[in-house]
Amino acid sequence: MVIVMKHQATREQIERVVQHIETLGYRAHLSQGEERTIIGVIGDERPIEPESFELLEGVERAMRILHPFKLASRDFHPDDSIVKINGISIGGKQIVVMAGPCSVESREQLMKTAAAVKQAGAHILRGGAFKPRTSPYAFQGLGLKGLELLREAREEFHLPIITEVMSPQEVTLVAQYADILQIGARNMQNYALLHAVGEVQKPVLLKRGMMSTVEELLMAAEYILAHGNTRVMLCERGIRTFETATRNTFDVNAIPVLKSLTHLPVIADPSHGTGKWELVTPIARAAIAAGADGLIIEVHHDPAHALSDGAQSLKPENFARLVEQVRRVAQAVERTV
Ligand code: PEP
Ligand code: MN
Repeated sequence: MVIVMKHQATREQIERVVQHIETLGYRAHLSQGEERTIIGVIGDERPIEPESFELLEGVERAMRILHPFKLASRDFHPDDSIVKINGISIGGKQIVVMAGPCSVESREQLMKTAAAVKQAGAHILRGGAFKPRTSPYAFQGLGLKGLELLREAREEFHLPIITEVMSPQEVTLVAQYADILQIGARNMQNYALLHAVGEVQKPVLLKRGMMSTVEELLMAAEYILAHGNTRVMLCERGIRTFETATRNTFDVNAIPVLKSLTHLPVIADPSHGTGKWELVTPIARAAIAAGADGLIIEVHHDPAHALSDGAQSLKPENFARLVEQVRRVAQAVERTV
């Protein structure tokens, strides 16, 4: 349920509503907007009637919300959430570009790619150290060594780092190196992992499971939010459909749907969304036109020899073209890059 306070409601009136919610055994979530305050009721609210709140002073209206997600919902928090990372704001007017290799393979590979993406205008460096691979015989990532290389690149190029964490036991370790923790598509509903990243104070990029609905993605985000971490970003990275012409089907619909349902920033991953490097730039343009707040793009200086996802990795010069094209689309939708 959400309780919308009157424009001129006083602090005491707001406080009294919060007390009333807590007396009934629920938690209250305050969202102080520019116009008015909205109070969300958290817990199983079925036994309470919205009308009972409308009797309290300062309350304009109270209503049940139809969605099962609450902290993630725009009803609870009408203004866009801005996630701040070392001076970069994600979720505002500026489009944020994250780029780098699928996997960290070596110092030479990471440094070359980091230099190139920085030069082309990327804001954040991506790179997997712990890799979720379909085959147990495929390259699994460099692990701790990969994290150390990411730290080196971070210092050298002044780029914050995003990297994946695959298990609850590794969250503390990965959080010591990463500026953003990535939860991969295969782990979107790993509730122990969602719980663990909910307890660290590091931003999280939660990728949509390849067979998950938008509502399931938002419920997964709700786990992280409910454990106290408010800095959550969502990522559309393509879903599995009957189509075999591409690796996944990038669900461009999901972007405006998410933007209407949630206040959380939405990032698009056209690399995994298509699986083919030639399609990455057109789908990146589409995602920004549709309202995405940022992009995460795989770039490799030598895709033919990449240890993972070479087919969808852009060469540095093509990534630079992507950034220029996205800049023009961003302008058309009154955003900047
Ligand atoms: C990745 O970002 O390299 C990755 C494994 O992505 P996803 O979890 O979306 O497959
Ligand atoms: Mn990848």
